[in-house]
Amino acid sequence: MRIERLRATPVAVPYVHDEIWAFGRRRGQVSVLLEVETDEGVTGLGEAAAYPSADIVLAVLRSVEPLVLGEDPFAIERLMRRIELIGTWHHVKATSPAIAAVEMACWDIVGKVCGQPLVNLLGGRFRERVECFFYVARSDPAEVAREARRASESGFSTCYLKVGSDEPNTDIERVEALRDGAGPSARLRIDANEAWAPGTAVRMIRELARFDLELVEQPVSGRNLDELGYVRSRVEVPLLANEASWTRHEQLAVLKAGAADVLSVDNQMDGGLLNLKRSAGMCEAAGLPVVKHSLGELGVALAAAVHAIAATPNFTYANQAYGALLSDDITEGFGGGVAGYTDGHVDVPAEPGLGVTLDPDRVARYAELYRTEGAAFSFGDPDPVLRSPALPKF
Ligand SMILES: [Mg+2]
Repeated sequence: MRIERLRATPVAVPYVHDEIWAFGRRRGQVSVLLEVETDEGVTGLGEAAAYPSADIVLAVLRSVEPLVLGEDPFAIERLMRRIELIGTWHHVKATSPAIAAVEMACWDIVGKVCGQPLVNLLGGRFRERVECFFYVARSDPAEVAREARRASESGFSTCYLKVGSDEPNTDIERVEALRDGAGPSARLRIDANEAWAPGTAVRMIRELARFDLELVEQPVSGRNLDELGYVRSRVEVPLLANEASWTRHEQLAVLKAGAADVLSVDNQMDGGLLNLKRSAGMCEAAGLPVVKHSLGELGVALAAAVHAIAATPNFTYANQAYGALLSDDITEGFGGGVAGYTDGHVDVPAEPGLGVTLDPDRVARYAELYRTEGAAFSFGDPDPVLRSPALPKF
């Protein structure tokens, strides 16, 4: 079997709430849908988050196409090494989502040919379903409390909120509202996206600890592990590395430095599902759990991640997902808003491969939305840059 053609389609799906974090905002999910066609008529689906942009994902796909066409989609390790060594070596962050989409589509092909859901090719069902958190959009405290109540009513056990705003008292008010809305038994995770200096992080986490936090994600810079280690040695709340743990090589550095209690891993940020399994294995050897990070994803990428997480023991925390923000999806009956989750969990698809089917009408609708309004969906918001031109913020 040989790969004959790559077909890439950018799509834009609106969020029900703008996503706002320490240094920007976006109004919807842009993904590049990838269809990989073979000479035997089997087509595999992949999806790349539009990171850093859809144009860059499309350019990377064009540049690796000569390395992919004519190759055997079953020879995934060899294909990925070929792309990495010849095509993208040293440029992991900007190229990884596109490459991960190629790998994802190959796994879909392999599963379809074998007649097996992907989970059965990655180790089998360690768990029957995968837990995800409810993404509470950063907003005014009353709206944060309303969203946290919606999380609780929808059956989610873990709520996630971005902090690291320009005004620390606002963060405190929002986290208080989060606890009020979510109720006493909910697990609360906050993410500062590197906004705080180490001393500020210690002060903020000690202040916010009264709201019984599950994890604090990347409170300080991901580039200087001494900062993360400093904070970890001075607070009781466990720390989750994210910007510090982009690739396996950075994850190894976090583990060696003892800088975090839990590590984020992400197949889209580090070249595919096999690397996600490697990341989880490395952390398991170090005695640490992992959390699936997301750059934002629709049903195709969510399904791929769910298969891998279901087959890997040390994903013991709720994983990052965008169900609470998404208004819709491009697949039939998978992903999309919170209606696709049961008690905060996603069922592992049972059909062969990724086990998801595209909805052609919605693919066409959201491809058209990307064509007409795609620029407005990109990472943006100049205001934070004007107000907070430096990192850390304070
Ligand atoms: Mg994060």
